[in-house]
Amino acid sequence: MPRMRRESGRLKDLPVDGPKKVLLAAPRGYCAGVDRAVVAVEKALTRYGAPVYVRKQIVHNVHVVNTLEKMGAIFVEEVEEVPEGANVVFSAHGVSPAVVQAADDRGLHAIDATCPLVTKVHREAVRFAKQDLEILLIGHDGHEEVEGTAGQAPDRITIVNSPEEVDSIEVKNPDKLVWLSQTTLSVDETMETVRRLRERFPNLQDPPSDDICYATQNRQVAIKKIAPQADVVIVVGSSNSSNSVRLKEVALEYGARAAYRVDFASEVQQSWLDGARTIGVSSGASVPEVLVQELLDDLADAGYSDVEATVTAEEDLVFSLPKELRQDANGKRDTRALGGRVRAAAK
Ligand code: SF4
Repeated sequence: MPRMRRESGRLKDLPVDGPKKVLLAAPRGYCAGVDRAVVAVEKALTRYGAPVYVRKQIVHNVHVVNTLEKMGAIFVEEVEEVPEGANVVFSAHGVSPAVVQAADDRGLHAIDATCPLVTKVHREAVRFAKQDLEILLIGHDGHEEVEGTAGQAPDRITIVNSPEEVDSIEVKNPDKLVWLSQTTLSVDETMETVRRLRERFPNLQDPPSDDICYATQNRQVAIKKIAPQADVVIVVGSSNSSNSVRLKEVALEYGARAAYRVDFASEVQQSWLDGARTIGVSSGASVPEVLVQELLDDLADAGYSDVEATVTAEEDLVFSLPKELRQDANGKRDTRALGGRVRAAAK
């Protein structure tokens, strides 16, 4: 059924030199890990009733968190804030073994919504630590995912925030090093960090496969295609969403005249559109499609009703839910929606 277009009338249709157009990136928005984590909280609420506690934001998106709060989720920073014996969901960004232990110590019923692609990095960290390797974890210090990964082998992991930091890091043995990375980084910047690391430590080992996930990579490829043709790029996503922030940066690096990140369409300012003929639009991996559609509605009000999709990949990955939630109370297998498209249940 076609969606009703909402007219806010906030943005004016001012003349520009030529036809107005939107280039809409695809893929954009929800990835399989975010979908799984959000559905996990919804299912936990249905299954166990409100409240269900969630450690940290389940995914980094204001709209998603507000919506789940209205449904009865309570977001906390640490498991110590959760009443003993209650249900708690760990966020898509993952947790360290110390957090799992703290939840266990409080007798909490924990549901782990860590994205399987983050769990893969955790397993690699544990394996490399057992092989007596020192791990250089490329990522942003303080980000929840980095905290969770670093906590897998705290004595063996050094965080490398940027290419510039390579010169100042200290290692115990330059011949027993391997690198890993956060899943939501800029591909180009990460490769630059690895290049500089290898220059300094020629025996640095590579992980068996990329840690930057398929969703992060796909969204960056799409924005790279759009950016050179766009006067302005608008990325929908929250300020603490690493992959959303990276999309804005990548758009600027690849030739967009200007790029902005917004949580909601209502943040778009008229001045951003001054003289702009082509506007690129994308969204981070934690962003529901409804927020992009609202942005497109507002842009249509401003005369940008010609929307051309730029498709650089098709995505059909679905992750199975955490094991506690794969069946409903009657033992029936789950079915669910992915990114607005109804999918068969994953096994
Ligand atoms: S962005 Fe990548 S790693 Fe993060 S939840 Fe999505 S698929 Fe998983």
